[in-house]
Amino acid sequence: MSVVIVGAGLAGAKTAEALRERDYDGEIVLFGVEEHLPYERPPLSKAVLLGDKEVDSAYVHDDAWWREHDVDVRTGVEVQSIDLAGRRVVTSSGEQPYEWLVLATGSEPRHLRLADEAGRPVHYLRTVEDSLALKASLTSDARVAVIGAGWIGLEVASAARAAGAAVTVHESADLPLLAVLGPEVAQHFADLHRAHGVDLRLGTSVTAEDLAEADLVVVGIGASPRTALAEAAGLEVDNGVLVDELLRTSDEHVLAVGDIANEQHPVLGRRVRVEHWDNAIEQGKAAAATIIGAAEPYDRMPYFFTDQYDLGMEYFGHTGPDGYDRVITRGDFSGPFRAWWVRDDTVVAAMQANDWDASDEMRASVGQAPPAE
Ligand SMILES: Cc1cc2nc3c(=O)[nH]c(=O)nc-3n(C[C@H](O)[C@H](O)[C@H](O)COP(=O)(O)OP(=O)(O)OC[C@H]3O[C@@H](n4cnc5c(N)ncnc54)[C@H](O)[C@@H]3O)c2cc1C
Repeated sequence: MSVVIVGAGLAGAKTAEALRERDYDGEIVLFGVEEHLPYERPPLSKAVLLGDKEVDSAYVHDDAWWREHDVDVRTGVEVQSIDLAGRRVVTSSGEQPYEWLVLATGSEPRHLRLADEAGRPVHYLRTVEDSLALKASLTSDARVAVIGAGWIGLEVASAARAAGAAVTVHESADLPLLAVLGPEVAQHFADLHRAHGVDLRLGTSVTAEDLAEADLVVVGIGASPRTALAEAAGLEVDNGVLVDELLRTSDEHVLAVGDIANEQHPVLGRRVRVEHWDNAIEQGKAAAATIIGAAEPYDRMPYFFTDQYDLGMEYFGHTGPDGYDRVITRGDFSGPFRAWWVRDDTVVAAMQANDWDASDEMRASVGQAPPAE
C-alpha cells in the first residue's frame, strides 16, 4: 500500500499525520514544490510579518518528526502529471506509483496587471519568502498601497501600520469584507482601520496614478485554486476539484483536500470550497479516514479567524448564496463582541471578536434558533 500526496502544505501534511495517527503502516510520500517542510500560512500575514515570531514557529513539524513517523517528505519536487489509469505520478525527479493519491495543491494569489505594470515594487503574499520580503519593506518611512480590503489586505495594513508605515487601502466594494460579512459588521472593520490611521478608499478602482504615489504595492485580491494538474489528468474540476463528502474525486483512487476541494457538503446541502486554515487541517484528517476505510463524512462548518491590531475574531458557518435576513449583535466591536447572521429564524453564521470564551457557544449556535433580541 502507498499513499502519494501532492502538495506539502497544511492539508497535505495533516493527511500524512492523520494516517500515521490512525495506524496506517503503508508508504507515505509527500511531494512539495517549495523548498520548505510543510508550514502554516496564517502567521505570514500576522506574527511573522509583525516580527513577533520567527518562521520556524510556523512549521507543522520538524524534520525529526517526519523521519520518526516514516513520512517521506520530498521538498523541492514538483508533480508534473498524473496517470490515472496507470496509478502513478510523474515528478521533476522521476515517477512514483500510488494506491491512493491525495491532491493538496492549494491556491495561488490572483495577479493584478495594473499593479504588476506600475513600475513600483509589488508584493503578493503566499509563501515564507513573500512574507520575509514584505516584512523587510515595511519601514516607518514607507508609503504602502494595499489593493484589496480582504483578510490578507487588512492584515497587511495592520502590520504595516504597526511598523509605522503610511498605508492606503484601495477597495472597489463599498466596505471591506462586504461580501463575507455584509454591511452591518463590515462597517466595523472600516471604522477599525480608519481609527488606526489607514487611508481607506472604498468604492473606487485603483489607478496607475494612485500607485505612482506609493513606495510599494501589496496586492490582496484573492486566490485561485491550483487545479491545472487535476484538470490535465481528466478529473472533474469546477471552481476547484469536485469531491463528495468523503473527499473522493471523480477517480476512485484520488482524493482532494484543502483549498482546492470543492465539496458536496452534507449539512449545507450544496457545494462549498473553503480557503481557510481549519478546513485544511480537518479535511486532511477526513481524507485519512477515507483511505483507511473509516468513511467519516466531512460535515464540519466552515471556520476562519483573523487578527488585526488588537482585534482577534473567529467566524463560524457560511451565509452562502441565499444570504441572511438579519444580523443580531451584542457588545462593542472592540470586544467582547458577538454577531449572529440569521435566515428563516436559523443562525447561518456566527462570530466573536475579543471574546474567546465564546468560541464553543458560537460554533454550536450555527443551525440553531437565534438568541433572543
Ligand atoms: C498569508 C496568508 C494568511 C492566511 N491567514 C489565514 C487565517 O488567518 N485564517 C484562516 O483560516 N486561513 C488563513 N489563510 C488560508 C490558509 O493558510 C489556507 O487555507 C491553507 O494554507 C490551505 O492549505 P492547503 O494545504 O490546501 O494549500 P497550501 O497552503 O497552498 O499548500 C499547497 C502546497 O502545495 C504545493 N504544490 C502545488 N502544486 C504542486 C505540485 N504540482 N507539486 C508539488 N507541490 C505542489 C504548493 O507549493 C504549496 O506549498 C491564510 C493564507 C495566507 C496565504
